[in-house]
Amino acid sequence: MIKTNTKCRDCRSGKLTKFLDLGSQPLANSFSRTEDLTAVERTYPLEVYFCSDCGLTQLVHVVNKEELFKHYVYFSSVMPKVSAYWEAYALDLTKNFLKDKSSFVVEIGSNDGVLLKFFQDRGYHVLGIDPAKNIAKLANERGINTMAAFFSQRLAETIAAEQGPANIILANNVFAHINDHYDFCAGIKKLLHPQGVLVIEAPYLIDMFENLTYDTVYHEHLSFLAVRPLIKLFERFGLEIFDVKIMPSQGQSLRLFIGHKGAKSVSENVFCLIQKELEFKLDDLNSYFLLASRIEKSKSKLVGLLQELKNQGKTIAAYGAPAKGNTLLNYCKIGPEVLDYAVDDLPLKQGKLTPGMRVPVRNRQYAEFHRPDYYLLLAWNYKKAILEKEADFIHKGGKFIIPIGDEPSII
Ligand SMILES: [Zn+2]
Repeated sequence: MIKTNTKCRDCRSGKLTKFLDLGSQPLANSFSRTEDLTAVERTYPLEVYFCSDCGLTQLVHVVNKEELFKHYVYFSSVMPKVSAYWEAYALDLTKNFLKDKSSFVVEIGSNDGVLLKFFQDRGYHVLGIDPAKNIAKLANERGINTMAAFFSQRLAETIAAEQGPANIILANNVFAHINDHYDFCAGIKKLLHPQGVLVIEAPYLIDMFENLTYDTVYHEHLSFLAVRPLIKLFERFGLEIFDVKIMPSQGQSLRLFIGHKGAKSVSENVFCLIQKELEFKLDDLNSYFLLASRIEKSKSKLVGLLQELKNQGKTIAAYGAPAKGNTLLNYCKIGPEVLDYAVDDLPLKQGKLTPGMRVPVRNRQYAEFHRPDYYLLLAWNYKKAILEKEADFIHKGGKFIIPIGDEPSII
């Protein structure tokens, strides 16, 4: 079920130092049924390491990927409409990189195919790859050609031989989930057209320093990405980051544009981010120890605030039950004695208990009838939309607690 890497995933160095220990935690998406109350949950170490040689921040405890992803419950959309965010993304790629209607677009971790459908509807040849059989089946039923598999060098060779090289390969919120970066890069090298572009979108490590988003650490997220370490990784495979953008998704995300080495001119944006990472001293182990001590302080401040509110007789519930919320609840040991429930719109989670702390997940209707004095906003990445949606709750005196940052804030 779990293996422990003794060497860095990217440079194979043994100079790995643990700087953050979030305890032994259950898998962040393993919501259990109420009747499982007495069952013992499996937990795994949730510890973050820094490689002093290449600078990659990473987990070394790797839970079996079959276990994590075979029946992934997350669906990126309700077909057929792609969200405004991804539509702008697809339009941008089409404008910049797809000159020819016969272009081939491959997506790794394609989920229900919503993004690929955008390209298919415009006449491009598409292929989805997703390990979750239930989701790949759904995508195929909706007409998006999807293979139920993990991306690998071997699979890339087969696809290239049968369908030709890919002009665009997309990997959104999937690269940080991959343990074997060498196999991934070797596969990209085989499948990518000489002028093709690999686009990777993933949370940016700097966000953890700026906003203390330590709750993005959970067992699925094996690496926390920054530009400098990745340049070295891709270089090993004759690949090159030629452009990068910062996107306001899940906090701050990196959108990396990668081609064969020398195929495209390297944008100034790449050098700007390298500079920023050096200013943050992301190459220095001490920065990570400082980060960890800020995280510990943030935890005790949050726990202190919640305790104070409980002492005042206030009622508190969690808003959202996202995977990252479970990291936070388990690390801070916030359970049903503090939170009456967690409200979440995803029917798959409703009626179940959050992993580890076992807070009951309720639907919106329940929440309407049991409004708390305070909501702990676990789904902070949707803060703006949630505060707008809950204007009535706020108008009637309800408050939101934002749990991340050096201090929790109340809105
Ligand atoms: Zn390394």
